[in-house]
Formats: sequence, structure tokens, C-alpha cells
Amino acid sequence: MATPIIAGNWKMNTTINEAKKLVAGMKPGLEAIEGVQKVVCPPFTALAAVREQLQGSSIALGAQNMHFEGSGAYTGEVSPTMLVDLCQFVITGHSERRHKLGESDVVVGKKVAAARDVGLRPILCVGETLKERDDGDADGVVERQVSLGLAEVSALDGLLVAYEPVWAIGTGAAATPKDAQAMMGHIRETLAALYGSSAASEVPLLYGGSVTADNVASFAFQEDIDGALVGGASLSPETFVRLVRNAAEALV
Ligand code: PEP
Repeated sequence: MATPIIAGNWKMNTTINEAKKLVAGMKPGLEAIEGVQKVVCPPFTALAAVREQLQGSSIALGAQNMHFEGSGAYTGEVSPTMLVDLCQFVITGHSERRHKLGESDVVVGKKVAAARDVGLRPILCVGETLKERDDGDADGVVERQVSLGLAEVSALDGLLVAYEPVWAIGTGAAATPKDAQAMMGHIRETLAALYGSSAASEVPLLYGGSVTADNVASFAFQEDIDGALVGGASLSPETFVRLVRNAAEALV
């Protein structure tokens, strides 16, 4: 089984001072938990400050997005080469970027490849909307997002995939562990068909969408779920520490 990972996506929240306070509040509790890779993804503006706070700790740092080009005339963008000095992970293709900011599968694919090229670990986010699920298209949509997200990479090492059904993000209505497992088994099969089952088995698959300290254990027990991508519940130190601890205990 891949190493379990719990990543917190802070989205567009926290000033630098708030970010520092949040990290200070969760660091001792997270440090005490073994057996799970812990990752926090603050906004760009807080990455440097949080990086300093996490020096020498077991908690890794991730960004929430990046451009796929290394440098150039892209006002307001941040490149992979800028990020690699700051963090180890980068979220790519989050549904809020796909649906609110028009990010396409092709652009997400370029980002995944660009991240791997500089040694960042991309967390490729995929997931269907409620309409796509209701229309019976969920499997096809997710399969397309996985294949196009990986269209420009020749190997899977370093990659993570997060299955985040759009209807479950920030709604309090998480997928059932059984439904999440069914889709994530399908994602594993899709990866195996493209890269072979041995490589596919090494890819951590994270579930995301209204994960809480109380429901995380039920996801952690599923065969193809190796961790979680957590939004709202990662913004409170106590809740996030409890969530990671519950996941670590369930995964033993
Ligand atoms: C997310 O933003 O990736 C997410 C899963 O959010 P939430 O946990 O709040 O549903």
C-alpha cells in the first residue's frame, strides 16, 4: 500500500499572521502522529513564512496551484521553478479552478507534467459534478480527467490523485465510503491500464469532499483510499490534528 497522506487545503484563507498562528497551533499535535505523511497547503503569500516555521519538522508543504511555464510574460502567475524552492507538493486541477476559473483538462495535464519535471509532487484532483453523476457519466468523466491529466507524463512516480466529487466539496455531504471506494478502485484500474498495475499500486489515492475528524476513519478503511485532501476541517488546529490522529489510528 502507498504511504498514507493527509493534506490540508487552506484555499484563499489566512493572512501571513493567521497562517503562522494556524501552523503554530497544529504543529506539536501533528508532529506527535506517526505513520501518516502530513501536508499543509497555505496560499502563495504565506508559503515562505510557513516554510520557515516547518523547518526540520515532519510536516510537508504544498502550494494550491501553479502555472505550467517556467517563467515569462504571465502576469500574476507563479511558476514551478519558483515553487520548488518553497514546497514539495502542488495541488493541480482542483475543481474550484476547473469550474470557477475555467481550467481545462489539457491545462491541468501541462501542470502535472511541469510539476514532475522540477521535482514537485502533483496532487491531481479529479471528480464529477452532481449532474454528471445523476446522468450516469461519473466514471467516464473521472477516467477522462485522469487520462488527460497524465497525458504528458511517462511515469507515475511522485504523483498523487485526489478523488473529489464536486458535489461533496464544502457541502457537508461527503460521498459514502463505499461510493468513494468504487470510484477510487476505478481510478486505480485506469492508472494500471495506462502504466501497469505495479506502478498504479504505488500512487497514493486521496479522497476529498467534506472529510471530518469524525468520518475520516470510515474512508481510511477502504482498499483504494490512501489518505485525504481536506478543506474546511484543515482550518482549525484542533480539528485537523484530531482528523489526522483518527486517520493514523484507522490505518494501523
Ligand atoms: C477541498 O477543498 O479540496 C475540499 C475537499 O474541501 P472540503 O473538505 O471543505 O469539502
